[in-house]
Amino acid sequence: MLIDTYGRVATDLRVSLTDRCNLRCTYCMPEEGLQWLAKPDLLTDDEIVRLIGIAVRDLGIEEVRFTGGEPLLRPGLPGIVERVAALTPRPQMSLTTNGIGLQRTAAALRDAGLDRVNVSLDTLRPEVFQAMTRRKRHDDVLHGLEAARAAGLTPVKVNTVLMPGLNDDEAPDLLAWAIAHDYELRFIEQMPLDAQHGWKRDGMITAGDILTSLRTRFTLTPESRDARGSAPAERWIVDGGPHRVGVIASVTRPFCRACDRTRLTADGQVRTCLFATEETDLRTALRSGAPDEEIARLWKVAMWGKKAGSGLDDPSFLQPERPMSAIGG
Ligand code: SAM
Ligand code: SF4
Repeated sequence: MLIDTYGRVATDLRVSLTDRCNLRCTYCMPEEGLQWLAKPDLLTDDEIVRLIGIAVRDLGIEEVRFTGGEPLLRPGLPGIVERVAALTPRPQMSLTTNGIGLQRTAAALRDAGLDRVNVSLDTLRPEVFQAMTRRKRHDDVLHGLEAARAAGLTPVKVNTVLMPGLNDDEAPDLLAWAIAHDYELRFIEQMPLDAQHGWKRDGMITAGDILTSLRTRFTLTPESRDARGSAPAERWIVDGGPHRVGVIASVTRPFCRACDRTRLTADGQVRTCLFATEETDLRTALRSGAPDEEIARLWKVAMWGKKAGSGLDDPSFLQPERPMSAIGG
């Protein structure tokens, strides 16, 4: 098991497949992009599958989420999914994506064994999409979402970050749209993980703001604590059901006490938290011929050092060196 000193057990593994992306969301990346990882530094497909194998066989991981950067940019993705689906025990597998390219790949990913997708979409307005992502790809994302639903990658979840003065007036419209299309909408509070270090607590849209805005049009009833489990999203039943809306309030209502995550970066570093300042290097161990038992041991030691919380409320909080796109959101 991957257990930490606070008794939390990690069963959910986030695997970043690349730090590259075809969008430039303002809360994530600068316009010019970043210094990408060099190819030899990236884990190979074989190395990724081997590490996931160790995680599910020896360390109790039950769920694997592929992310990035933009994971659909990784050419080997369908093959990785297929090989992970063949592992025993077979983990649940999902993908967090900006949706570009999903129209072409959704059915193949489903056939390879992917269970679900989370697609990030912040706005229903093409011009706001362009302002927020610095690319004209709004239609591609909408088509990707439709393809995911048609392929049965359900429930299709939609992740939305609200930014002041850009899309913060859109929460009720986005919820009405999500309900009409049978997508499950989740709002994510903006976190200090942008490469430009532009985040300001007093400039962010909080969970409280989001709920106030949604309640202008919908009746929201909190879902029971039991239904939430260790999920980061607090969920509300909309207008008596069956639809739900989630809010991931990492800043104003952190859920660290129930965290069941461990993370693997595209260059083979274990991170115990999005906000961790330390990493454990599994790639060097892999490439120097370490057996599975040794890699599992290193991973367990890393988890044992997991901090109690993100430290966001601590006056000494320091933003991690890696931005969200290089950690794997
Ligand atoms: N490119 C894929 C995507 O956008 O879904 C996967 C990686 S992205 C880093 C994963 C999620 O992190 C997205 O839903 C994105 O909106 C969110 N995200 C990125 N930067 C963020 C920030 N500073 N605060 C909160 N969420 C952020
Ligand atoms: Fe790319 Fe996702 Fe970051 Fe947007 S949030 S720039 S889509 S990695």
